[in-house]
Amino acid sequence: MSRRDDTISAVGDGDFDVAIIGGGINGACLYDLLCRKGYRTILLDKGDFAGGTSQASAMMIWGGLLYLKNMDIPSVFGFSRSRDQMIRNMTDWVSPCRFRFLPTQKGLLSKIPILSAMYLYWVIGCFNRKRPSIEARFPEQKHLVRPCDSLLFEEGMLHFSDCRFVLHWLTQNRSPQQLAINYCELMDGDYNKKEHLWHLRACDRIIKREVEICAKAVVNCGGVWTDRINDSMNIQSPFKHVFSKGVFVGLQRPDEDATPLIFAQKEHNDVILSIPWGPVSLWGPTEETVIDIEKGFKVTADDIRFLLEQYQHHMATVPDIDDIVSLRCGIRPLAVKKDYHKDSYPLDLSRNFKVVADTDVPWISVYGGKITGCDQAAGVVAGKVKTFVSPQVRQTDPVMGPSRLEQSCPTTNFPGLTKQVPTLEWCMEHEHCYTLADYLRRRTNIAQWVQREGLGKHDEYKDHLLSLSLTLTDGDVEAAEKELKTYSKKVTTGFDRILEQI
Ligand SMILES: Cc1cc2nc3c(=O)[nH]c(=O)nc-3n(C[C@H](O)[C@H](O)[C@H](O)COP(=O)(O)OP(=O)(O)OC[C@H]3O[C@@H](n4cnc5c(N)ncnc54)[C@H](O)[C@@H]3O)c2cc1C
Repeated sequence: MSRRDDTISAVGDGDFDVAIIGGGINGACLYDLLCRKGYRTILLDKGDFAGGTSQASAMMIWGGLLYLKNMDIPSVFGFSRSRDQMIRNMTDWVSPCRFRFLPTQKGLLSKIPILSAMYLYWVIGCFNRKRPSIEARFPEQKHLVRPCDSLLFEEGMLHFSDCRFVLHWLTQNRSPQQLAINYCELMDGDYNKKEHLWHLRACDRIIKREVEICAKAVVNCGGVWTDRINDSMNIQSPFKHVFSKGVFVGLQRPDEDATPLIFAQKEHNDVILSIPWGPVSLWGPTEETVIDIEKGFKVTADDIRFLLEQYQHHMATVPDIDDIVSLRCGIRPLAVKKDYHKDSYPLDLSRNFKVVADTDVPWISVYGGKITGCDQAAGVVAGKVKTFVSPQVRQTDPVMGPSRLEQSCPTTNFPGLTKQVPTLEWCMEHEHCYTLADYLRRRTNIAQWVQREGLGKHDEYKDHLLSLSLTLTDGDVEAAEKELKTYSKKVTTGFDRILEQI
């Protein structure tokens, strides 16, 4: 019997205390907390863990300096506190990082208002971060169209990637009693009031089988799919999500780009970032209200044109299409009241999370939120879970803490990369890695750091990907070739064709 069969069989092995729907940052962080509190917990994701918005962030752990323009002091206070706690308590994952703000010449985002806001921000952050300062000379200056002073302030930054950050919460607790399963989609279900039990019907996409899950309480952490999941289960809520699409391009990084840059934009008093990350600098993001989730997860030629225009506006050299190493796209789930119908610029909406417990059945929905503060959101949800159900299993400590996990992970080379990456075999054994995309995009950063999502500019790494596919398919040549073909097709449609239109 395969490992997957074992896992799926364990699903039917008695009732769970809590079922979490969604393995993005919100679901993953909550899963870890509930497992540690001794709840028999199951988490399902319809795709790969972190395969939704959580793989597309800027990886900043920040207090939200920009929210000060709307005087949203409670959000800034909450996010700053979360940021500082994460920097203090999660040293293996989050480190302090200085950012360079490049102000406009006039207006709200010019030097004096921004420096004043930074001081206020520093005070709201209880002086926990370094004091803001002005730097007139800095290495990145030679790339700028208009040399200006830079304003330095301190935030936090994830070390490896947002995907690995999600994975670590999911892989610490491993026991037959507590399960995190990817590629398993919640279809529908009912609550049996006599049994005090949810009967959830899910579909396992790997072994293509339907499974029934019995759980005393359910938490909907479906990100932008939260409303859709609630609708399918007839759950009403006073909140809903509006969707804001955000796209980055990964550009080849010049050696002197070492500090994240924040460029003030005149339009909407927004900003655009350049974030050094391994061999690339992430340039973006866009901020655009979208209605259709599936369309919103696709980068368009217009997104790239907009980003390149902005680049030209701020930087002395214009990147060539060949300098675009990778694309990155996600949709921010922003929590608003159910009757909200305005057409606000998404940045003007709160990024705070809302947690709603249904009044009739044990069902909790999580709205909004960010990676920053995921532990706080999990704590609030756990408080509500406690009112519905008590833990079944003994309280546990993490089996393996994050640093030990990383240290024990064997690494290997990938052509075109100087930094070693975890081996595919290890990711398959320990991290539910099933496809080339799981490995190249979410277990490693290959798809973001190597041209054409790891295939190379002229397919030069295709043979290497075939040998990885053979490992995935246990030596089945036909299945390996099919896996590689599916992956290559995705790169052609999701990368090549878009760049051809520029
Ligand atoms: C461009 C951009 C930049 C950002 N930058 C930052 C940043 O720097 N710092 C920060 O703190 N935040 C940032 N964010 C915000 C942050 O990334 C998101 O708020 C966060 O990742 C959302 O996590 P989530 O768990 O709610 O949703 P998701 O990560 O989308 O997870 C939801 C999961 O639910 C699953 N699902 C849906 N339906 C079902 C079903 N029926 N059955 C099973 N599973 C299902 C999906 O497959 C998905 O994996 C950024 C967002 C964007 C778009």
